[in-house]
Amino acid sequence: MKNSSKRLKRISVSQTLEMSNRSQELKEKGKNVIDLSIGQPDFATPEHIKKAAIDAIKKNFTFYTPVAGYKELRMAIVDKFKRENNLDYNINQIVVSNGAKQALANAVLSIVDEGDEIIVPTPYWVSYAEIDNLANGKNVFLPTSIENDYKITPEQLRKAITPKTKALLYSSPSNPAGSVYTKKELYEIAKVVEEHKNMYIISDEIYEHINYVSHHESIAQFDFIKDRVIIVNGVSKGYAMTGWRIGYIATTPEIAASCIKLQGQYTSNACSISQKAAIAALNGDNIYTLGMNAAFKKRRDIMLELLNDIPGFRTNIPDGAFYVFPEVKEYFGKIKSYITIKNSSDLSMFLLNEANVATVPGSAFGNPDCIRFSYATSTKKIIEGIARIKDALLKLNENL
Ligand code: PMP
Ligand code: GLU
Repeated sequence: MKNSSKRLKRISVSQTLEMSNRSQELKEKGKNVIDLSIGQPDFATPEHIKKAAIDAIKKNFTFYTPVAGYKELRMAIVDKFKRENNLDYNINQIVVSNGAKQALANAVLSIVDEGDEIIVPTPYWVSYAEIDNLANGKNVFLPTSIENDYKITPEQLRKAITPKTKALLYSSPSNPAGSVYTKKELYEIAKVVEEHKNMYIISDEIYEHINYVSHHESIAQFDFIKDRVIIVNGVSKGYAMTGWRIGYIATTPEIAASCIKLQGQYTSNACSISQKAAIAALNGDNIYTLGMNAAFKKRRDIMLELLNDIPGFRTNIPDGAFYVFPEVKEYFGKIKSYITIKNSSDLSMFLLNEANVATVPGSAFGNPDCIRFSYATSTKKIIEGIARIKDALLKLNENL
């Protein structure tokens, strides 16, 4: 937009949401589109959580809540950290927001000043770079590769740190590559950060419950660094609650207070009814979460096998989250009729137009050699979607 602020001009539209919207529009026009773009569980929110929300409405929990969230919810989050992560927090260290996305934005906007550097390993989740841009911070991207499972090394991190470094911002399990850092790897990263007293770690743990290899490890477990870690988490992924918009942070009381100050002028509390639902989610039986995790693992295996059967596609083995992020660069330079595939965006658009399958180009995640497939959808759609992609790509090969 011509008249938008400079701030707005610094950021771009969310590519994940854009691709998903595009596929929705095509569906509305009658096209049989398979959406492998958006990452959200296709499971319904469990009944006991929905019931808690209905009860909340009936009991008139319909007023403003404290900006940081109901005490009962923050207590449930404190308990969750103790029970699941063996981490001790007090209620004044927890802030509930409108999704993990707002929690992240609060964290970045609270600590980053103009020109501060934020180290972001690539591939990264789309919104990291844009939230940093919004805060007028400088993204310092650290490239990773398929050979090391898209993880950074401590040496790489050490070299990237300068006196201007304010934070390291990453996710584990990661979106889009599904990488899961081991306890040892996190320890080594924490040791590097320990040496730099003005530096924070923003640890996005939203995929904590979608992990196929290990119990979740948080970098906040290392006491020597804990007071410089901002954990971001939420109920969207682990409890199939993306639309309810409940995320949270755990951090020092000072940073929590900054986030409350910011949120108090911006959006106030997250939805009161959703907060009541989140209490039921966190305090309830985790059998649903475990069931989803098992279903996602089966789908991952199917998707991996099918994608690796496509000539020119190369994948790592994602250990968590619900995405596969194959390298597809062998297709760049190929031509079909008047279409030339120059990059991941062209390939993603080609697959949408030619195969009616929505994906997200890797460029949105800072790795233009790849595209992202979400398997948070039915096995039937995964199988059909990848079969269509394979056919479309064969046509591309025939034209050479
Ligand atoms: N972090 C990552 C890595 C994500 O993939 C997402 C996407 N949902 C979020 C944060 C934001 O989650 P929420 O829906 O709770 O805002
Ligand atoms: N996190 C999901 C994804 O990466 C949801 C979309 C979004 O919020 O960006 O697809």
